[in-house]
Order: sequence, then C-alpha cells, then structure tokens
Amino acid sequence: MKFNTKTIHGKQHPDKAYGSVMPPIYQTSTYAQSTPGGHKGYEYSRSANPTRHALEQSLASIENGDYGIAFASGLAAIDAIMKLLKPGDEVVSTSDLYGGTYRLFTKIFEGFGIKFHFVGMQDVKNIETYINEKTKLIWVETPTNPMMSIIDIEAVSIISKKHNVLFAVDNTFATPYLQLPLDLGADIVMHSATKYLGGHSDLVMGALIVKDKELADRLYFIQNASGAISGPQDSFLALRGIKTLHVRMQRHCENGKAVAHYLKSHPMVDKVYWPGFEDHPNHHIAKRQMKDYGAMISFTTKQDSLAGAVNFVEKLQIFTLAESLGGVESLAGHPASMTHGSIPKEEREKLGIKDSLVRLSVGIEDEEDLIADLKQALEN
Ligand code: PLP
Repeated sequence: MKFNTKTIHGKQHPDKAYGSVMPPIYQTSTYAQSTPGGHKGYEYSRSANPTRHALEQSLASIENGDYGIAFASGLAAIDAIMKLLKPGDEVVSTSDLYGGTYRLFTKIFEGFGIKFHFVGMQDVKNIETYINEKTKLIWVETPTNPMMSIIDIEAVSIISKKHNVLFAVDNTFATPYLQLPLDLGADIVMHSATKYLGGHSDLVMGALIVKDKELADRLYFIQNASGAISGPQDSFLALRGIKTLHVRMQRHCENGKAVAHYLKSHPMVDKVYWPGFEDHPNHHIAKRQMKDYGAMISFTTKQDSLAGAVNFVEKLQIFTLAESLGGVESLAGHPASMTHGSIPKEEREKLGIKDSLVRLSVGIEDEEDLIADLKQALEN
C-alpha cells in the first residue's frame, strides 16, 4: 500500500459491532466481564481502548512501523522515552530543539541523574565526540525548531548502531508524508500529534511508533504504569485528521514554498530559514531524506529588533499570533518569548534564536492572501 492509501486505510477495519467505517468513540472507562478475566480484549481504558487502538494502528501504518502508542501530549510521549533510562545514563540531543523538550530534559530528567549533551548535529561527526559507555539515547529533531536545520537521519543511525545506542527522532515538523525515520534506521519515531497529524488545532496528543516488539512492550508498560494516554474523543479526531494528512501536506508545502520565496525577495527581510533553499547549509540532505520541504519558516528582518518582531506579529491579520503549528490555519509565533521562552537567553542566542526571530506555520489558505498579509505587516 502506498502512503496516500495508508493514511485512509492503513491497518483499519470496519468496526465489528455494526460495520461503521469510522471507529465509534468508545467513551468508556471499563468493559463488562462475563467471569473474572472474561472480556473481549479490553478491560480498562488506561490499558487499551478500541478508538485509541484504531488510531495506534493507523500511526504504525503511516510511519512504516509495527507498533503505535498514543499519548496525552507530545511531551508525555517524550517523557515515556526518557523513562527507559536510569540515573547515570547519558543522552546526546540536538541542540536546537523545541523549548518544552529542552525544559523536560534539563528541569526534570537532569534532576533524576540523567546527563544531556546538546550538540549541533548539522555535521553528524560532532555526535561521536559525546558518546561513551554511558550513552543510551540519541535524540534528533529535524527540521529543527525554530532554526530549520537539517540532520542526516541515516548518518545518525549508522553511529547509533555502531555504539548500540537507542535513536529517537521527533518527526513532528516533517510528518511521515515528508520523511520516514524508521526506514532511515531510527528506533523510535515521536510526534506531537497536536500538530500536522491532528491538523486542525483541536486536540493535544503525542505518539510513539517503533518496529521492535520488545521496545514496544517496554514503552507500552511505561504508558500503562504512568497513565498518560490519549482519550477516545481526541483519538477519533486524530484518526480523522490523518485521513487528509497527504492532501493537507501537499498544500502546506506549496504555500510554504511561495511564502519562503516571497520573504527572501523582500527588501526588509534579512535571513529566511527554510530547508528548500539551495543555499540552506544542509539542503542536499533535505533533498535526499525529505519528499518536499515543509511549511515551517523562520525569518528575521533587517530592523533586527524585538520591537520590530513584536510589531510585525501584532499587525498580521490572516496569520494568527499563537503557540503551536501544523494546523490548516496559518500561525505566527515569536520563539524567544513563546515556544522557546524556557531556554535561557544566552543559550537561545548561541543557537541563533534572536529576539527578532519570527516563526511561521504556513497553513492551507490561498497563497495570495497569505502573501498580502505578510506584505502589509512588513510594510506598515
Ligand atoms: N516536539 C515538537 C517539535 C513540538 O513543536 C512540540 C510542541 O510544540 C512538542 C514536541 C511537544 O508536543 P505537545 O505540545 O503536544 O506536548
């Protein structure tokens, strides 16, 4: 089955009760048993729920994995991965990453005795410098948030296998429409399904997808023991969202390309960060490992000031100033004060996250309207 068909049919079956094509929202915590242990595969909805199960099957299918696990949020999914580790273990992580992931690593798991090395991975050779016998996990985000750096997943997987270290990829920005980390050698794919998978800014959810049964069992055990599951209503919405992922992504990419080129040609704009540009430092890797270049774009203006960035985002009329990304509607954000506010200013600036940086999540509206909105906000 090819990707577009998988988003609709992958590991999906009509519901057993009445043949409903979409799974019902099984809004129940528990299931009647005929005798102790005599149930039809479901006993308590923390452990499993039929609506969530249908979604998890779909997640596994679209990421070319065998097992999917749906969580209450993206961060809950990352939290479960971290619980595979123990005090004294070390993690080598992308340096430029979602601020909430950085906060979880440094403010929670460092306190439990796990050591993190934040490394610029645009050149994967940098990773090996930090690997030792205590290293248990390599954590990669690509494209990175918000600088849109590209990391070579296949090259990282060679390093992870050589050192027998687990390798996880946050595939939130790219989605399986654009890149398939498990096919490129990753062990775990993680999603904030809140974003493109859900696609309509109406739910908060996370997901993990793996191929290895033992790893799936360990992650499932952690989820059941800790309890951060996605609810039936949200699972239904995410499954519905996934069915249009391919058509949404196609339009996101078209609009993203138009907006990136418009910004680059505008005399008031300084730098535009988008992996589709041939002069992007790792464009050749993006070209190889991604099907297209996505609709996440960051930029600075020549004014290069906090006030300029704030003024710009306040003037937008179609782009909404809001946290999050990946919905059908275009959003604008100011990373330094919003998504990446939890990273100390000094660290942020080392990564290029200046106070003047603006991040756009380009939606699927008409391209002309989006460009007109950017033009009026830049020029007013
Ligand atoms: N990873 C990335 C790349 C994100 O952008 C986000 C949220 O913005 C997360 C993880 C966390 O996901 P959630 O907000 O669903 O907990």
